[in-house]
Amino acid sequence: MTVHALPTPGFSFELLATLGHARAGILHTPHGDIETPVFMPVGTAGTVKAMTAGELRAPPLDARIILGNTYHLYLRPGLEVIEAAGGLHRFAAWDRAILTDSGGFQVFSLAAIDEPRKNAAGFTPAAEVDDDGVTFRSHIDGSKHRLTPEVSMTIQRVLGSDIAMCFDQCPPGDADARVHELALARTTAWARRCRAAPRAAGQALFGIVQGGIDTPRRMRHLAEIAALDFDGHALGGLAVGEGLADTYRILDEVAPALPAERPRYLMGVGTPQDLGHAIAAGLDMFDCVMPTRNARNGYLFTRGGRINIPNAAHRLDLGPVEADCPCATCREHSRAYLRHLYLAKEILYSRLATLHNLTFYARHVRAIRDDILARGKAA
Ligand SMILES: [Zn+2]
Repeated sequence: MTVHALPTPGFSFELLATLGHARAGILHTPHGDIETPVFMPVGTAGTVKAMTAGELRAPPLDARIILGNTYHLYLRPGLEVIEAAGGLHRFAAWDRAILTDSGGFQVFSLAAIDEPRKNAAGFTPAAEVDDDGVTFRSHIDGSKHRLTPEVSMTIQRVLGSDIAMCFDQCPPGDADARVHELALARTTAWARRCRAAPRAAGQALFGIVQGGIDTPRRMRHLAEIAALDFDGHALGGLAVGEGLADTYRILDEVAPALPAERPRYLMGVGTPQDLGHAIAAGLDMFDCVMPTRNARNGYLFTRGGRINIPNAAHRLDLGPVEADCPCATCREHSRAYLRHLYLAKEILYSRLATLHNLTFYARHVRAIRDDILARGKAA
């Protein structure tokens, strides 16, 4: 066991064991201990869709950290409301750790739309990036806003997350070298500005490594970001349209080079198989909308593969989604009942399905952690 103090007071990273590049540890935060590797449920708008805070906390799910989205919370309900409530923890009645993204990914994913088209609200989302920041239109009402590194840090300070993320530029997967080089230079300059900006008391800050699928470019950027003494490091810009082979190659070649004594976070990835690969490469923290979004769309995860609950095969199946799953959905309900709720568009379906998928992800990652502890070498 080796305990590494992180630059922000109140945070430390304890490495318990390693197995190849894979690591098992504990990230200590002012809002509790997080056993790593960890999957972090995504709470886009201050809620992990369909789940109460109590359901997220309760074992076997026992979520220790959830995500909040800066872009969404800034637009709605707005900072004034969250500030009046005393921050996102109090506003959402969540007393464990929160990580907030910088808002950059949402702004750039709007800008990355190939053909301008009106969204459901009747507006054409668009963003313009320059060296100082990004100007964009709200997807809700079309109003114009500007995000800079300083604005992103101000929003995250008011949200009061335990871990804030640097504002970065994430180019699309098929961007050419020139676009990547410009994005890298900006991301490093912006990381310095985020590092210099005021933060909430007890708020850590992670830097983000970009560079697409070019390993030398990634390694060069990694050196620039690691030099800035962040509390942790993230790999951004993966699973944004490049092929899976390239994603895995970058994970294998770049993740082991991230500073070993600080937590390593893979942003926005992925399937259970992706998590297994990334953990083996040395990553510690993960988030993805996949378990929650797939649940609502009728897809449930099992060790035997993903099932599509509206499928007729489940009509008379009175067994649980997964036989040994300890979640309340599997203990109390059958596939046939879930299929019925889904087809009848009952609200309860989304709640039961989300609880199962999040429990599946939590157990999947914990099983890998247990294996690292059992077979690995003490750190
Ligand atoms: Zn279950």
